[in-house]
Amino acid sequence: MKVSLIIPCYNEEGNVRPLYDTVVRTFEDKVPDYEFVFVNDGSADRTPEVLNDLVATADKPVKAVHFSRNYGKESAILAGLSEASGDCFTIMDGDLQQGPDVVVDMVRYLEEHPDCDCVTAFQEDRHESPLMIFFKNGFYGLINRISDVEFVSGASDFRTFRRNVRDAVLSMPETSRFSKGIFPWVGFETHYMPYVAAERLSGTSKWNFLKLWKYAISGIISFTTTPLRLPLVFSGITGAAALGSAVFDKQKKDRALPAILGTGSVLLLGIGILGEYIARVFQETKHRPVSIIKEVLDNHR
Ligand code: UDP
Ligand code: MG
Repeated sequence: MKVSLIIPCYNEEGNVRPLYDTVVRTFEDKVPDYEFVFVNDGSADRTPEVLNDLVATADKPVKAVHFSRNYGKESAILAGLSEASGDCFTIMDGDLQQGPDVVVDMVRYLEEHPDCDCVTAFQEDRHESPLMIFFKNGFYGLINRISDVEFVSGASDFRTFRRNVRDAVLSMPETSRFSKGIFPWVGFETHYMPYVAAERLSGTSKWNFLKLWKYAISGIISFTTTPLRLPLVFSGITGAAALGSAVFDKQKKDRALPAILGTGSVLLLGIGILGEYIARVFQETKHRPVSIIKEVLDNHR
C-alpha cells in the first residue's frame, strides 16, 4: 500500500529536512512504499528553497507544490490531496509535532482492518491553558448540538485514510473549507487513535486566539444553518408572550405591551422565513454531493 504524506508548510524552513529524515528513518522496514507531497503555502522564509533542494537531492519521491501566496492550511490540504498518488493518504503538520511513528501505526491499522477506511489521531490530554480548554469545550458542545455531523474534540487533521475517503473529500467543492467537519460529513468507518503531540521543532505556531475564533465561527457556519433558524424560535416566544400579556393583564394596565410583542413576533416571523430560504440557498451554493456511496453490490453482471 503506497502512502502519500500530505504536508502543508507555512514558514517551516527549519523543519522540512528534519521531517524528511525522521520519516525516512522511522519508515525503514515498516512502510516500504511512500511519497512526500509538501505544499508550500506561500511561505515568506526560505521554505521554497529548502523544498526545491529536497526535491533535487532526496532519495525518496518528493513533490513540492508552491502556492502563489498564503491561502491557509485548509487550501494546502486540498491541493496536496489532489496532487498525491498513493493508495492511502496521511495529512501531517510540517513541524514534527505529529510523530511519523504514529503514521506507521495508522497505516498498519488500515492494513489489518480492511473494513476501516480512516484512522484519525486525537490528543487525549492537551497541554493548554484553562481558558483555551474552556473555549474548545464550548465550541464542541455547541457545534455537536446544532450540527448533523459529529465533531470529535481533540481530533486534528492528523489522519490516514484510503482513496475512497480522499475522493469523497475532493468531491466537496466548497471553498470555505473546514476539515474537522468535512471528514465526518463524508462518513466511512473511522477509527480514533490516541497520540501525544510533541513540541514544535523550530519556528512558531501560526495560530493565535483570534485566528482560532474565526476558524471556529467558519466551522459553525459551514456545517449548520441553525443560527438562521433562531428568529423563528424567538418569533414563537414573543408571540406567546404577546398572547399571554393580552390574556392575563385583566386590568389592561399596559395596552402597549401586547401590541409591541405582537409586532415584534410578526417581524421575527418574516426574518425567520427569509432565514429558511437563505439557508436553502446557502446549502445549494456549496454544491456538495447529495450522498457519498461507500459500495454497490450487484449480482447481475
Ligand atoms: N500552515 C499552513 N498555512 C497556514 C498556517 C499553517 O500550511 O496559513 C501549516 C503549518 O506550516 C503547519 C500546520 O499548518 O505545518 C499546522 O500549523 P501550526 O503548527 O502553526 O499549528 P499548531 O500546531 O500550533 O496548531
Ligand atoms: Mg504545529
